[in-house]
Amino acid sequence: MATGRRARVRAWLRKWVGNPVASVVLVLALLADAFSLGRADLLSSWRGPSLFVFSEPPIHYGPEIYAVSGVSGLRWVYPEEDSWDELSDLLQTKAPPVSQCVFRESYESPAIWAQATDRYTKTLTIIPLTGEWSNAQLNEVREQLFTNPSMRPSIRAAMTDWTDLASGNIQETTILWGGVAHNAVAITLFAALLYSLTGWPAWFAAHPLSRRARRIARGLCPSCGYDLRGIEACLCPECGRPLTLDSP
Ligand SMILES: [Zn+2]
Repeated sequence: MATGRRARVRAWLRKWVGNPVASVVLVLALLADAFSLGRADLLSSWRGPSLFVFSEPPIHYGPEIYAVSGVSGLRWVYPEEDSWDELSDLLQTKAPPVSQCVFRESYESPAIWAQATDRYTKTLTIIPLTGEWSNAQLNEVREQLFTNPSMRPSIRAAMTDWTDLASGNIQETTILWGGVAHNAVAITLFAALLYSLTGWPAWFAAHPLSRRARRIARGLCPSCGYDLRGIEACLCPECGRPLTLDSP
């Protein structure tokens, strides 16, 4: 029973999907879907263009703070307030090791077809610039940045929006179900299109015009396939149709 139904489904697919007309319809449907993504981009909250691109994430950087490892512990240089000259001197002399604290907030919305996920990341990275820094020391910088009581209030104020990083970096991924549904539809259409293309040779072979051409080439009656080799006649002796090459 099941195999009979499967055969019927296969025959149905071959008839209605495996042909050039269906291919054209599927291509148009995919284009329509692509255009609707463009509209969704304008009308809804989806960020960035979503057709075959990885959308550019907006990146937000926090204050630039540098940690200097001195004999009496860590010291903080905030060049926007202190001076960039002091920092460049430190980096040139390379005497006390300097590392940079990079606060970074970004939204990424990767999309190959429809945008299906939204990724939010907020990170603090400690980058060694000069001198030797062990991992433990880098972790120490990170910890001290949030807990050091001797940190200047102005630096604390600059870090206001970033204190939630004290307990670690943040990454949140949101699934956009509208985009997931769009992608599911697009994948189905693509699969149907590929299947449709495989049906072309059989479709053309079975096409009436193509069958006529094959019969004429083999010396058969184009209408009924009767073997006309060696027969001099204006009408087919089998079906009675006229035997001009361009007759319908
Ligand atoms: Zn004939």
